[in-house]
Amino acid sequence: MSVLRLALPVPLRSLFDYLPPAGMTDRAVAQLQPGCRVLVPFGRRQLSGYLVEVTARSEQPASSLREALTVLDPEPLPGRAVWQLCLWAADYYQHPAGEVVALGFPQTLRDGQPHRPPGCTAWTLTQHGLGLPAGALQRSPRQAQALALLQAAPAVRAQEFKAQGISNATLRTLAGKGLAERCTVAPPREEPECQPGLPLNSDQSAALNSIIDSWGNFGCHLLEGVTGSGKTEVYLQLIAHCLAQGRQALVLIPEIGLTPQTLQRFQSRFGAGIVVMHSGLGAGERYRAWEAARTGAARIVIGTRSAIFATLQAPGLIIVDEEHDSSYKQQDGFRYSARDIAVKRGQLEDCTVLLGSATPSLESLHNALQERYRHHQLARRAGGGQLPAITAVDVRKAPLQGGLSADLLAAISAGLQAGNQVLLFLNRRGYAPTLQCHDCGWIAQCQACDARMTVHRRLRRLRCHHCSAGLALPRRCAMCDSPRLLTNGLGTEQTEETLQQHFGKWPIHRVDSDSMQGRDAMQTLVREVHRGQPCILLGTQMLTKGHHFPGVKLVAVIDADALLFSADFRGEERMAQLLTQVAGRAGREGEGGKVLLQTHYPDHPAMQAMLREDYASQARRLLAARQNSAMPPWGRLLLLRSDSRDARAGENFLGQLRQKTEHSLPGGCRLIGPLPSPLQRRAGKFRCQLLVTAAGYREARTAARLLVAAAEQLPASNSLSWSIDVDPLDL
Ligand code: ADP
Ligand code: ZN
Ligand code: ZN
Repeated sequence: MSVLRLALPVPLRSLFDYLPPAGMTDRAVAQLQPGCRVLVPFGRRQLSGYLVEVTARSEQPASSLREALTVLDPEPLPGRAVWQLCLWAADYYQHPAGEVVALGFPQTLRDGQPHRPPGCTAWTLTQHGLGLPAGALQRSPRQAQALALLQAAPAVRAQEFKAQGISNATLRTLAGKGLAERCTVAPPREEPECQPGLPLNSDQSAALNSIIDSWGNFGCHLLEGVTGSGKTEVYLQLIAHCLAQGRQALVLIPEIGLTPQTLQRFQSRFGAGIVVMHSGLGAGERYRAWEAARTGAARIVIGTRSAIFATLQAPGLIIVDEEHDSSYKQQDGFRYSARDIAVKRGQLEDCTVLLGSATPSLESLHNALQERYRHHQLARRAGGGQLPAITAVDVRKAPLQGGLSADLLAAISAGLQAGNQVLLFLNRRGYAPTLQCHDCGWIAQCQACDARMTVHRRLRRLRCHHCSAGLALPRRCAMCDSPRLLTNGLGTEQTEETLQQHFGKWPIHRVDSDSMQGRDAMQTLVREVHRGQPCILLGTQMLTKGHHFPGVKLVAVIDADALLFSADFRGEERMAQLLTQVAGRAGREGEGGKVLLQTHYPDHPAMQAMLREDYASQARRLLAARQNSAMPPWGRLLLLRSDSRDARAGENFLGQLRQKTEHSLPGGCRLIGPLPSPLQRRAGKFRCQLLVTAAGYREARTAARLLVAAAEQLPASNSLSWSIDVDPLDL
């Protein structure tokens, strides 16, 4: 008996056994390879699953096994390495394999559509045509010309005939005579044409040469280079090397918003052969990009997080730009880190992995300092730019208008007068985070979350930033009916209003997810700002990530204290990364720029560190401090979360899980909780968590398997859902 063991895209961790489709011979079954899609009945539905193995027996009674409907692919579509990568990731993150494997396919194929290899129409000679001598058909010069082309190659693309001025009618005539016939061939590979790069400075060439020296086997490199130090130039020249070796390059970037800029820079260096992959693409575009990567038609693939699962025909290099960025970590469903998976993929594909950042994560820095990764540093800005000077603006007792102190207003004014652009950072959108009654103290709360509603004045609405709840901006207090409602705190809309009052004659661009709706909004803005006219940019993180605004000389952080008192153990690391990245937008070209941090705590140690130390030394200090608490990267974390309508159910569930597993976890593991999650109620559900700390990688993996196995055995009500987060980012 042969049994097909499949991973199905359902939220269940087990594999599923099926009998081969009726009529499939034993020989054909034996030849099936892992990764092939198989269409099966599942309950009353049909699902497209993925073959993990063909085995001789099943643990289910044979009589209960259902027959698969069809095998959809004669050969597996994902590459071997990607297939192994998915199975590894499913195990590492303890996530259902079918859901992980599905990420390696475009949607239409996940849905069980047949795979149609991309092709272009071409013509080839028939048996009869092959028999003609060279120089035949002289009476019709066009036909003779077409024949000559067909005699020179096994198949000729319709495009090529067109280019030679040979019409379709001529080809149809040849077909009519039985001499030629239509066929399909793979689309032409778009060969990049590398433009020469900039002459590298000594740090850049040291990094590049060292990476090239260890080329050809797996190796992971960390490129730690201050903002504007020319990391991208190193990427580009390394990619040129990779292409020259006949290999493909995969480049991960953190945000869709950065794709047009990155794409443009890559296109002007390499011309053709580049595809992008991100969630903003339509189904057809995604399919074409995936196929181009898989067949090798594309030589460079630029993508966001999930592109790490795209099959490449001959990968030589994987780059993860801004490797510290939290958007590489998926925060729900399959909670993977694309950065970490990139390193694993490099191992499986035996290729070079390059992680780059001005503010590397402590995880990557640790690996570099422990010499698991090669470490390359770029300490100076390339192209003569200088790193900006950072100064604190003590706003204690200072009157603030829209969050802006008199000193900051003066600095903005001076900057604009001098013809420069000014960038203001405020990481809170909306008008104000709180609406309060002046008479009774009532505060507008979200009905479904433990959170306040944010005032969006322009839309005249209150909105919850944790769930989708929204309602019209009330005119009166819900408790006492007083019309005297106040807003507390600050959001970008409010600061924008103040800026309008002071600097109305200059353009003011607010950049947050409210104002940047639509696919092209960000690109349009970037183009406008690149014209270089003096203006004010006011925005959230969206504005700061990776963007290159050469005209910005002054950068100000309106509320530098926002991250000071974070309860998360990564709070200080995040603050240093964020502020360093924001500051890095200043003076990227020419004269040194200036950075102002408005703060109520100029003497706080973390604030002092920002003023006195660069990121590199802050990071090393924070890394040493983490060792004492055995937190990552020294130790490992697992987080089990529960989510339920019933306030007690989650705590009970996680409490039982703790009891059941406590004594069997590997040595050195500690359990903390169950405790309410930081935002206990969200979208109407109560959230609870159980944190597990483990001494190392092995212990964490064993613990994860044990906990998940135990959790699956526990009786739980239908209203409760639970998840495991391996290497969680947010606690
Ligand atoms: P990063 O990626 O580290 O932020 P970029 O690669 O964007 O830095 O480089 C910052 C600026 O410096 C860009 O304008 C780039 O053209 C310029 N640049 C990079 N390398 C060199 C070099 N070797 N010589 C001159 N200018 C350079
Ligand atoms: Zn009131
Ligand atoms: Zn809410």
